[in-house]
Amino acid sequence: MTNLKEPSFRESVDLMFNRAVALMDLPPGLEEKIRVCNATYTVRFGVRLRGQIHTFTGYRSVHSEHMEPVKGGIRYAMGVNQDEVEALAALMTYKCALVEAPFGGSKGGLRIDPREYEEHELELITRRFAYELAKRDLIHPSQNVPAPDMGTGEREMAWIADQYKRMNTTDINAVACVTGKPQNAGGIAGRVEATGRGVQYALQEFFRHPEDIKAAGLKGTLEGKRVIVQGLGNVGFHAAKFLSQEDDAIITGIIERDGALFNPDGLDVDAVRAWIMKHDGVTGYPDASHHADGATVLEEDCDILIPAALEGVINMSNAKRIKAPLIIEAANGPVTAGADDILRQKGTVIIPDMYANAGGVTVSYFEWVKNLSHIRFGRMQRRQEEARHQLVVDELERLDRYLGDAWSMTPQFKDKYLRGADELELVRSGLDDTMRIAYQSMREVWHSRKDVDDLRTAAYLVSIGKVAASYRAKGL
Ligand code: GLU
Repeated sequence: MTNLKEPSFRESVDLMFNRAVALMDLPPGLEEKIRVCNATYTVRFGVRLRGQIHTFTGYRSVHSEHMEPVKGGIRYAMGVNQDEVEALAALMTYKCALVEAPFGGSKGGLRIDPREYEEHELELITRRFAYELAKRDLIHPSQNVPAPDMGTGEREMAWIADQYKRMNTTDINAVACVTGKPQNAGGIAGRVEATGRGVQYALQEFFRHPEDIKAAGLKGTLEGKRVIVQGLGNVGFHAAKFLSQEDDAIITGIIERDGALFNPDGLDVDAVRAWIMKHDGVTGYPDASHHADGATVLEEDCDILIPAALEGVINMSNAKRIKAPLIIEAANGPVTAGADDILRQKGTVIIPDMYANAGGVTVSYFEWVKNLSHIRFGRMQRRQEEARHQLVVDELERLDRYLGDAWSMTPQFKDKYLRGADELELVRSGLDDTMRIAYQSMREVWHSRKDVDDLRTAAYLVSIGKVAASYRAKGL
């Protein structure tokens, strides 16, 4: 493999799919049906800005409609192209199947550098793009539900939702046409942090399994583990923040567009993020060494490497030098198929993208359900739950008085126990449960089948199995 040409992102996804599917016993032709992208729509539209018409190119690709709506983000970046969007749409199919979010896979992209435009210009562009997609049902609560991705966020999703509503004034479910909206526009608590939170939950689950920790040549828990993260955008930032502040991992390296920061004693993730916001990069950040060629820091000694930026950053040219024994793919497709071969042979454990970054679409699923049910999670139960807990606390207080010094309630017990779960707690609980169950389904295959020696193949086997089952149920 090492002497061969580096596969493209889409080829990588196909190669990984083929490797898994060769171990399955699918009916003739079904493999091909699942692998191919059903349709990709390309649109070129003009928007009048700064006194002239600017033409933009956008895509929405639908990989699989075995379940509808189809789901997946919309990316704003100059590198967007049809192959990339199709690879990402395929990953969405497998991702949704793996975490049991009842969607097919889709993805969209607009070739644009969002930093070059003013907010009001981006609004015009986004509304026009949304109009082009919505009029073809490529944005639709029951057909195709976009979400944020690289270069987009809550703001763009609010514009898209509003645009769809303007075009469908009597659709009672209009707000469910897109997820990742701000909370005051139909969003859900915990969506912004969801993908990073999912990365944390994935690692927590990994570290609950001694056999898996051993497979990576690691010991103990997340506490004290040295972590290098590439990309301090929404996903990388939240993952690094939660791992360092809640699990006591040490973020030793942060790689950004303008170089990398390294500090063996640990970086303050909030401080680095604030620095990036203010200075448009990490350069000049005081409490760390700065490496102009950021990518070299991917090769530094560490326990866990978190690529949370672009695809293809770990490839055939640097895979051999990657020292991390455990890689968790917070980005989509950060390891090429060629690099995957090299790393597997080295014994590196890779927690694959379709699982590792599925937290975003999982919470999108909760948001979509919330929108369709027109009620916030917990609204009916919360106070009733508190009232029932109050009964227990009253009894314990009686016991407390009766037993005098011999026994008393632990401080904070009362407050913690009495508080009914709000929407954020419910979202986190649902996400945690999803990440645990999906991990267990992968590791079961990883450890029980002699012909499967990595989590990625296991993930493909589980998800392709689910997609195949739903095609079969449809009689295809
Ligand atoms: N863009 C995210 C992803 O790649 C989220 C998709 C969604 O929430 O639908 O998974």
